[in-house]
Amino acid sequence: MHALIDRLIRPEIRALRAYHVPPAAGLIKLDAMENPYAWPEALREDWLEALRDAAMHRYPDPRGGALQPALREAMGIPADMGLLLGNGSDELIQMLALAVAAPRAGERPKVLSVEPSFVMYRMIALFAGLDHVGVPLQPQDFSLDAERLLTTIEQEQPALVFLAYPNNPTGNLFDPDLIERVIEASPGLVIVDEAYAPFTDASFIPRLGHWPNLLVMRTVSKMGLAGLRLGYLAGPPAWLEQFDKVRLPYNINVLTQASAAFALRRRDVLDQQTQAIRSQRAALLASMGSIAGIHCYPSDANFILFRTAPGQAGAVFDGLLHRGVLIKNLDGAHPMLSDCLRVTVGTPDENAAFLEALSESLSSTQR
Ligand SMILES: *Cc1c(COP(=O)(O)O)cnc(C)c1O
Repeated sequence: MHALIDRLIRPEIRALRAYHVPPAAGLIKLDAMENPYAWPEALREDWLEALRDAAMHRYPDPRGGALQPALREAMGIPADMGLLLGNGSDELIQMLALAVAAPRAGERPKVLSVEPSFVMYRMIALFAGLDHVGVPLQPQDFSLDAERLLTTIEQEQPALVFLAYPNNPTGNLFDPDLIERVIEASPGLVIVDEAYAPFTDASFIPRLGHWPNLLVMRTVSKMGLAGLRLGYLAGPPAWLEQFDKVRLPYNINVLTQASAAFALRRRDVLDQQTQAIRSQRAALLASMGSIAGIHCYPSDANFILFRTAPGQAGAVFDGLLHRGVLIKNLDGAHPMLSDCLRVTVGTPDENAAFLEALSESLSSTQR
């Protein structure tokens, strides 16, 4: 069987390891940018009531027809822009990649993203048989290296450019003027990935339509509905009509459509939660700033990236785990992230537990 696997499965796939999600049972889970707040009991009752009418014996509406107006309204999508729904924004990245993925004149189309950034841009490029080009960010503050980015775009002529705004795992917003220059310089599409939109006031949605090659992608995951798997892509309808052809017919299931429509009607609850997370982010950053032995990076997202003394990230991560707190160890994920850890902003109690465990881990690590 192994010989057959070697013969049939592409070498670049065989060389991969499956996406690893660490077990979190019994731990304070601050590793995955989830909203820590569950819905209030009364809201859960209303939600279950809303699901009562879901037609589980039917295939879902293929385009999420009832959901689209609610999403447009909630996110302020300009009326002349199209909207395409995905099973999480990961699926939208995959649809974009699949639609461009055929060699032309012997050359494979290219996906360009900055590094370090969201790893799925590179992974999905590889799955779809595209080449990936990574352009390093500035090491001191993770800002765009405009010169290098524009030169690389000129040389490599990427079909797709992905920019996360704010960026994951660094948390910063790139200079919007530089993003505009990237859009203008790009021969292909530029997808501004606004997964962390609930935690910042900055957005490219108002600029949709200013350039024919700008698309904006969002998700409800970080907003508080990670369990639903729903992302959406907004942009000129002519583009979205093309990507819609590679969408699997019923990609957004009946329960997701009904639940998302319900949640958008009660957006006040989600907005309150994301506002609370934003103020907790400021408090957490202030507290972490006064802890000796770490350096924190500013964040416009619902997580904070921080750096330990050289060689200590693993021990600090383990110390936190030992004290019941799971965060993300990014040491080794990219050379620019050596000694880096990332913590998701939790509830005030979770953040306090994290801060205490962090102080303890740091003092036992440094000893
Ligand atoms: C989490 C994240 C996503 C993935 O969102 P899903 O809708 O849950 O697939 C996309 N982009 C960035 C930058 C993210 O951090």
